[in-house]
Amino acid sequence: MATSTTPEKREFQAEVSQVLDIVINSLYTDKEIFIRELVSNASDALEKLRHTQLTENEIHQPELPLQISLSANEEEGTLTISDHGLGMTREELHENIGTIAHSGSKAFLKSLEESARKDSALIGQFGVGFYSAFMVADEVAVHSRSWRPDAESLVWTSDGKSGYEIAESAEELPRGCRIVLKLREDCKDFAKIDEVRRVLENYSSFVPFPVMIGEERVNKIEAIWRKKKSEISDEEYTEFYKFSAKAYDEPRYRMHFSAEMPIEINALLFVPRDNTELWGMGQMEPGVSLYCRNVLIDDKPAGLLPEWLRFLRGVIDSADIPLNISRESMQDSSLVRKLNRVVTKRFLKFLDGEAKDDADKFGEFYAKFGRFLKEGVVVDYDHREGLSKLLRFESSLTDPGVLTGFADYLTRAKDGQDKIYYLTGTDRAAVEAGPYLEALRSRGLEVIYFLENIDEYLLQHLREFDGKELVSAASADLELDSDDSIVLEGEPLAESEMEALCEYLKSELGEQVEKVAPGSRLVSSPAAVLAADDGMSAQMRNMMRAMNPEGELPPQKVQLELNPRHALIHALAEARASHPDLAKLVAGQLLDNALLSAGMLEDRVDLIQRGFELMEKALKKSSE
Ligand code: ADP
Repeated sequence: MATSTTPEKREFQAEVSQVLDIVINSLYTDKEIFIRELVSNASDALEKLRHTQLTENEIHQPELPLQISLSANEEEGTLTISDHGLGMTREELHENIGTIAHSGSKAFLKSLEESARKDSALIGQFGVGFYSAFMVADEVAVHSRSWRPDAESLVWTSDGKSGYEIAESAEELPRGCRIVLKLREDCKDFAKIDEVRRVLENYSSFVPFPVMIGEERVNKIEAIWRKKKSEISDEEYTEFYKFSAKAYDEPRYRMHFSAEMPIEINALLFVPRDNTELWGMGQMEPGVSLYCRNVLIDDKPAGLLPEWLRFLRGVIDSADIPLNISRESMQDSSLVRKLNRVVTKRFLKFLDGEAKDDADKFGEFYAKFGRFLKEGVVVDYDHREGLSKLLRFESSLTDPGVLTGFADYLTRAKDGQDKIYYLTGTDRAAVEAGPYLEALRSRGLEVIYFLENIDEYLLQHLREFDGKELVSAASADLELDSDDSIVLEGEPLAESEMEALCEYLKSELGEQVEKVAPGSRLVSSPAAVLAADDGMSAQMRNMMRAMNPEGELPPQKVQLELNPRHALIHALAEARASHPDLAKLVAGQLLDNALLSAGMLEDRVDLIQRGFELMEKALKKSSE
């Protein structure tokens, strides 16, 4: 390796060193994946060159074939991978293979470090594939010449430990990259060309450029999405997924469909195994590419699918898309909008079918990707109906952890029931311990539990399902049949006494309470608070507080509903005249207890203090 005299030495960025450390010392499985990573980088570089050719007049050596070549030298123990792609300038070498620019890679590094699964499959997912070369090599040289007419011929070398160095190449290099791996003693197998061919056959058959060993081409280019389903095996589908998504997992779902009307479409979409957003890696990047009759138009086109489908991987091919469509005009194109609508609808229908065929499998999907569907309900009016069919939740009639959907809910609804009831809360136990459920439960009405933060937003946008209004069981204007055959214990307080008690409480409790009234929903609790008509729910207040801890929230306002049959209410009505001091304490405690069980108590100092006073009074009274 002859280089000029003044090589430039640099240390790796800290994250790179960390990645390298993991790559070299911890990843022992599937070492062969480095071939796939380097070939896929070469393929990307060729793809980018093809695009650059469209916009730039002057490309260095335009006649060079767009292909990837591999050669091995058993004697020297080296493997070489070359391409005539974009190549890299000096700055690009520093930037691209000396640092990690990707956001989220730190979070991912952390999760990789903590993960018991030190799996080389993870490396491709966080965009540091190049460094996998150091799994097998103790020295890597990247000979590179950029496509730019006046670029230098450079050699980047590193042992993967101390840093790297960039020197001028002694020879004039052709455009592109030539990567030479000096294989480690225990990895010399990769210097045998038959071994390399075997790995290529496993991983690289969908690379869209010729992959050559000498004069022989080892891959065939195939647009499997334009073939008939019956001609494709499961293995081929999975292999294509792995190639197109740069993934190592098996997809959860795949949808392959063709349509002639309203436009010609061939689409092959995959749902990956994992939702990396749940790992704190930031937003997933959209991963469905747009093709026109097998020719790639854009590998990450914005607006091809709605943003909430950013977890999908695969290909959409439409013969109707003009080949010269630009990135800018793509989003405005009515054709792309049509594609978007048709494919999205089709995908939602597909999911609905899958949910019916195998509810458990769908449940696993939902646990990971349900958030995207909820996001869709919130932001995407056009698909709200299709999406709402796919929503899943627990309810008062499911076992804990078992999910149901709106359609199933309606099959269990009572005759003539024209509403869908729900409660929001932080967890199932809290919702079930609250006072709101009992009235509906005793009437045999099923109540859906919405337990995630995002559900508050969801419910602001989802007002009905199948013509049935969604109603909160905690809302002030919940109307329930009173002539139902429910047996309630105890006599109700006389109406006039009740009225007087309500007035008393209203004046005792002041500002915080908008209204005090008797109600029919309570069975075993004496009182419950309801969000005032213009008030915010407890979850909404919590969420706003979490988002902005410094911010001032408007004062909380609630309505207090009393249970006219409850012994405590009877006793309080009496105590108002006979023991006014005690009644005052009980009034305050009644409200705070109701707020507490609704998850709405914001200051508990009074509750505790009053509690002590009440205990003291009760004990003194019993010893009188
Ligand atoms: P990723 O490919 O996910 O960005 P890598 O670590 O595999 O991450 O590669 C880092 C960067 O190095 C690439 O984004 C690309 O800019 C550059 N690169 C790698 N291989 C080549 C190549 N053969 N030709 C040109 N650029 C390359």
